Amino acid sequence: MKNPSVGTLADLRFWLVRTFVWRFAKPRFITLMGGPGAGKGTVATGLAPELGLSHASTGALMRKEIEEGTDFGMQVKDAMAKGNLVPDHLVMQILERTLRAPQIKGGVILDGFPRTLEQAVMLDRLLSSWGVALEKAIWLELTEADLIERLSMRRTCSNKKCGRTYHLKFDPPKVADICDDCGSPLIQRDDDKPSSIRTRLATYRTESAPLRTYYQAARKVNKRGIKCSVMKVVVPNNLMNKKQVLAKVVAALND
Ligand code: AMP
Repeated sequence: MKNPSVGTLADLRFWLVRTFVWRFAKPRFITLMGGPGAGKGTVATGLAPELGLSHASTGALMRKEIEEGTDFGMQVKDAMAKGNLVPDHLVMQILERTLRAPQIKGGVILDGFPRTLEQAVMLDRLLSSWGVALEKAIWLELTEADLIERLSMRRTCSNKKCGRTYHLKFDPPKVADICDDCGSPLIQRDDDKPSSIRTRLATYRTESAPLRTYYQAARKVNKRGIKCSVMKVVVPNNLMNKKQVLAKVVAALND
């Protein structure tokens, strides 16, 4: 992965976007939080086009680096396969590069970032250095039993361009192990296997859950009159369909 370019044409382009587009367009920055398997990716995929925002999943961005065999991918591969968190400075590097990309005009829905207190602080600093701020942290709340079931029953399309996910019980493919959309085989992600699931849940409990307190305490109004607040969206059980969850998230965003 290239470092976010400094003093290059890309840098100039980003400065122009910030100065002339963001000043008037007021981009929105929203983060979706919740345990592994809570459905952040699914919600973000549905929400982004509806709100005219880009979708940035740090997990997906890093999986792409691994697949392309980049140096960055090699550095994060092991931690990801085991279900451990990737070091903050590396995740921040890939996130900053993404946020500087030209397509981020209207703003972005962050999916899977921040995951630690340090990342939350770094994100606030970065956005504030650009004169913008996080607007809302939406928390998808599920019981641990539901999270485990979702992760272990999740199957993902092996075609990276598609990447559709299924739930073997609640949202199975029409033909076993084959993607409805593109016909590619479905796979189980390494980190959706039992030992990784345990690690990911433990990490979530210790590292990510305390972020809620951080955002609750951060209900201050920034320069642009934007108040960052944390909204809880309870996803009661695995029967609740995607549309219903999305509607709840939209209601929380407008609250
Ligand atoms: P996800 O696709 O969001 O479930 O993330 C998959 C994996 O990517 C996680 O289990 C971590 O190993 C890594 N990862 C994604 N986002 C972050 C982050 N913000 N901080 C550290 N590691 C991350």
